[in-house]
Amino acid sequence: MAAKKPAEIAKDAFRLIAERKLQPTPEHYEAAYAEISGEKLEQSFPVESLRKIALALPAHEITLAKAVASVEQAITLQNWAALKNSLLDYVTKVEQQSADNMHAPSKASMEVREQVARMVEHIKPALGDEDVRFNNQIRELIQLLRHPTTEAGAVKTALTTFNLRLSFVGEEQGAIRATLLHLLTLVFENISALGVEDRWLVGQVGALMEAAKPPLNLKRLDDVKRKLQDVIAKQSEAKARSIEAQAQIKMMLATFIERLSQMTDTTGNFRNEVDSFAKVIEHAEVLEEIGPALQSVLTATRTMEESARQVGTELRTIRERAVKAEEEIIKLQGELDKASVQARLDPLTGALNRRGLDEAFAREVTTARRKGTLLCLAMLDIDNFKQLNDSHGHDSGDAALSHLVSVARTSMRPQDTMARYGGEEFVILLPDTSLPNGVEAMQRLQRELTKRLFLQNNERVLITFSAGVAQLELDETAENAVKRADEAMYLAKRAGKNRVFAAN
Ligand code: GH3
Ligand code: MG
Ligand code: MG
Repeated sequence: MAAKKPAEIAKDAFRLIAERKLQPTPEHYEAAYAEISGEKLEQSFPVESLRKIALALPAHEITLAKAVASVEQAITLQNWAALKNSLLDYVTKVEQQSADNMHAPSKASMEVREQVARMVEHIKPALGDEDVRFNNQIRELIQLLRHPTTEAGAVKTALTTFNLRLSFVGEEQGAIRATLLHLLTLVFENISALGVEDRWLVGQVGALMEAAKPPLNLKRLDDVKRKLQDVIAKQSEAKARSIEAQAQIKMMLATFIERLSQMTDTTGNFRNEVDSFAKVIEHAEVLEEIGPALQSVLTATRTMEESARQVGTELRTIRERAVKAEEEIIKLQGELDKASVQARLDPLTGALNRRGLDEAFAREVTTARRKGTLLCLAMLDIDNFKQLNDSHGHDSGDAALSHLVSVARTSMRPQDTMARYGGEEFVILLPDTSLPNGVEAMQRLQRELTKRLFLQNNERVLITFSAGVAQLELDETAENAVKRADEAMYLAKRAGKNRVFAAN
């Protein structure tokens, strides 16, 4: 077959494109022409396809982005040699990066290291700063943790050393805390030994010892501080009072002794006068001889009478003064008792009194509103308390009240606050507690009371209570919440006692 002429080949090429329904682009035409003529197509530079490939190359990092830019430039210049070199350069950079990544910590592990560094920083103040070497170690550890080139092995070694030191410090601090608590208990015992005759003081010290029992937290320590302040105030008042009373008594004693010695002097003179008078009488021949001696005895008698009258008057004054001092002391005692009522604690049970409750309630309401947490309050009233008083005596009633407070103290959470609201009525504040949980907490206290029966004269007495629980509403006053809890408590009584009702 004769070779086709170029014009025929061109015509056939157009036909072929039409048959194949291809776009009449120069590339398609070139390909069709080559196919018909049987000539091998000289491969032109596939710019578009190569661009697509270049676009797909990852370039998330500056060195890679530069390498990709070189590849793109080679494509634009349609330069095969430059394209080959720029692609090789790109591959080298990718390899280099993956080698670097194998050593550098990942983003996630840097975040973990940062968290550990912060944790170490937070622990630091609790460890004190006496140990300079340990302090330096901590600083170095934080630096190591924050430095991106630090190898994992180095971090591990530093952390192991830190942990070891930390365990020593932790043990030591635990021992220090235990010793301090022990010292504190000794101080309390000492206070109570000094003031045993004062019922208020004994109650306060008992509450202090109870409050200082581990586990301690900041809130309980705060309670201990407040109680101690009350005790110190009371003690200093009592001391001033007794110093004053002692001074009065000393003064009276001194006056009395002085008068007594004066009396003795006077009596001594009188006896001498009488003795010499007796001698004069013994030796007198005539009555006239007795005259002058009689005169001096009469004078001595008058002096003694005068002196006795004076001493009598003075002693009466002293006695009056003593009575006045005693009255003063009674008055002071009354004032002190009033002051103790004004203090925050109930002297019998050591729970907060109304004033203490008001303060604590205000504090808890503020905290709950600031943190957006729930606050519940429970109103408790002991069931048939009058009957307990009648059958076991008033002192047993008092002891039962203290028993309830002591059981509540051990079974409630440390952040819960108990206050004596009235005779046998108590309020418990339950921070961070929902209504169902508040009801549940009171039922738990009821169960606890059935486990720890109140022992009176070897008799086991079951104390039960009825309670109402209210959850503080968003804009509700403390007073209103108490009122709602009280109403719920009343309904619990009406329903048969020994039960807990939630307030509406
Ligand atoms: P209810 O189950 O309905 O609550 O009956 P109750 O007997 O407990 O209640 P009521 O209000 O009739 O009596 C309360 C009693 O509590 C009367 C009062 O003498 C006694 N009481 C109040 N304060 C004290 C206290 O400090 N010590 C003692 N021992 N008794 C107290
Ligand atoms: Mg009552
Ligand atoms: Mg009652």
